[in-house]
This record gives sequence, C-alpha cells and structure tokens, in this order.
Amino acid sequence: MRATPATEPGTTSRSRARTAGRSRTRDDARRLRPGLAVLWRSLTEVQIGTDPRWATAFTDLSPSATRALHSLSPGADVRTVRAALAAERVAADEAEELVTGFGRAGLLTDPPTTSVTGALVADATAWGLASTPRVVLDRRRHAVVVRGLGRTGAVVATTLASAGVRRIALEDDALVAAHDTGVGGLTARDVGTDRSGAVARLLHDAAPGVRTSPLGDGRADLVVLVEAGTPDPVLYRTLLTDGVPHLSVVLREASVLVGPLVVPGRTACLGCADLHRSDEDPAWPAVAAQLVARGARTGDAVESTLAAVAGGLATAQALAHLDGRAASTEDAALEVRLPDAVPRLVRLPPHPECGCLDLRDPTAADPSGHD
Ligand SMILES: [Zn+2]
Repeated sequence: MRATPATEPGTTSRSRARTAGRSRTRDDARRLRPGLAVLWRSLTEVQIGTDPRWATAFTDLSPSATRALHSLSPGADVRTVRAALAAERVAADEAEELVTGFGRAGLLTDPPTTSVTGALVADATAWGLASTPRVVLDRRRHAVVVRGLGRTGAVVATTLASAGVRRIALEDDALVAAHDTGVGGLTARDVGTDRSGAVARLLHDAAPGVRTSPLGDGRADLVVLVEAGTPDPVLYRTLLTDGVPHLSVVLREASVLVGPLVVPGRTACLGCADLHRSDEDPAWPAVAAQLVARGARTGDAVESTLAAVAGGLATAQALAHLDGRAASTEDAALEVRLPDAVPRLVRLPPHPECGCLDLRDPTAADPSGHD
C-alpha cells in the first residue's frame, strides 16, 4: 500500500510518502477528519479528500480493502474503519498499515469536545480542516460594528452572522434605496425603511440569537467601516486613538478597496495610506476632502459583483482578525476592480511621518491575541 498526495491540475505535486509503520493506533476513537470524502479511484486505489493540501491517494490496495474504504462514511472513527476492513476480510497487516497511513497523512483527528449543530456545521467542518473547528465557536464572544449598510455592508454583516459572530452592532442612519437591494439580501419590501433595522431583520432571520443593538459602553473587537470615495478621517482617527481595530472598505466608481485592517499601534493606519497617496499626488488632500464630503452626499451605491466579492473579502479579513490570525490586509489592501473582480494585493506600509505606531494604548486589550 502506498499513500501519495492526490494532486489536481495547477497544483504542485508533493513527493511520495510511503507508509510503512505497523504500530497499532492506540486510540480507536480518533476519526477521519469530518468533511473528507472517501472516493473510489480504481480496484486498488482510494482517495480521501479533494483539497490538494491534504487529499491523499492510497494505492496498491487489495480489492477488498478498496471496497471496505469506499464503504466508509465521512468522519468514521478508527474503530469503524477497522470493522469495515475486517468485514471485507482484509489481511491484518494491510488493515494496520492503512490506519497508520491515515494518521501519517494527517487524515485523523481527535473526537470533538464540543458539538456544533445547525447552520454552523458547514463552517465548523471547513475550519476543522483548515484550522480548528473551535474558531467558529469562539466567534460568539466577539463584538463587531459594521458601519455603512448598503449592499457591501449587508454582505459583511450577514456573512459574519452566518460564520458564527453573535454580536454585530449595525450603524447607518440612511434609508434603504432601490440600489441597496439584491446582493446582501435586502429586498424591494425594505426600500424606504431604515438600513439598520432592515439589515437587523436579515441577521435575525439568518442567525437566531444574534444581537444587533448598539454596543453602548461595550468595546468593539473590530469596526468595519464601509465608506464611499475615501475613508473619513474623523472616524478613523477616533478609532485609532481609542485603540479599536478597524477594517476600511472603500467603494469607488467601479472598484472597491478592502483594507487596510488597522491594529492601532501595530500596523499601518489609514493616515499612513493617506500620506503615501499625498507623496504620489500633492493635490490628494484637496481631492480627499471633496470625496469625504461627496460620499456623505451621494451615498454608497455599488455594482453587484463588487459588493459580493468585496463584502466576502472584507468578512474574511474581519474573521482572520477575530480568530487571531494575521489578516492579509494588515499593512495592505485588496483592490477589486471591474471588469474581472479578481482581487489584487496592494502594499500599504506604515508611513514614517505618520507616527501612528507610537499611539499604542497600553490599556487596550486586543481580543484576537495579537500583541
Ligand atoms: Zn499611520
């Protein structure tokens, strides 16, 4: 029996990893990582998983072992795997080699200590493969503010709720316009009602138990600012000096800039981005001032695919911060442009004249675990 990475076109093939161990796995309660498909490749080959990061093909199997493995349900525990192999009269050596091979290929996991049910199962399964299912449950303790609730902000808020965040304060005084409907979930019935209330209804429908009222004195773990034209300095400077992490999403004519995600005192701020822009264009401060004023006046209508892609990217950045991973948009931004809407990473390092890295509030607790 051989275990080799199951690659797909466009991925790099890893070297073959022969499994030769014969020590019996002590803990039969370990199980195949949930979400991994068990796939028949030929009479003597089975593939487990499809993601090239962990998909493994087991080759040179006996036909009876192939039958036994193909009969397994996703997430089967080792005891069940052994029973299936025994039922097909697979030789003890081959059975033991297979179980050892599963372990060496990283396909086994410990039984869950907490159970995730309902709408969060898909999230917990995928994060169990990419990281740990625990991050989905941990999101319940975070509080996020989403400010700016057109299509893009609605995508961010609903996706955060769907991903397990249960405290999402919604900030927007505007009324729902026709161009706010569609992507994000607002409908023609919402037009003319206030955006905060309409998006709150969406969240309560999608994720019962979510709380959307203002945080009051509670501290936000992250504020997502969705703005048109350019970030409003009054907003981001307040967040910076208060030590509140924030993610900027700027809607432009036919593009959206997602980022930077600012961890005050640790990563470049929106003022840094402004200074870099001014270095390139001395007239930028005058232009930016007009964009701030204009954004408030003309609203934040955004094209459908830009709203969907940018809203999803912004949510992924927000979750990275909440989960304690470094977000790709720290000291950077993702630009999404029509017509292709393929994100492009733009570097935004700290600006030497900004001084924001000296602003760190020593009392500020960073919930993501960043230091
Ligand atoms: Zn700065």
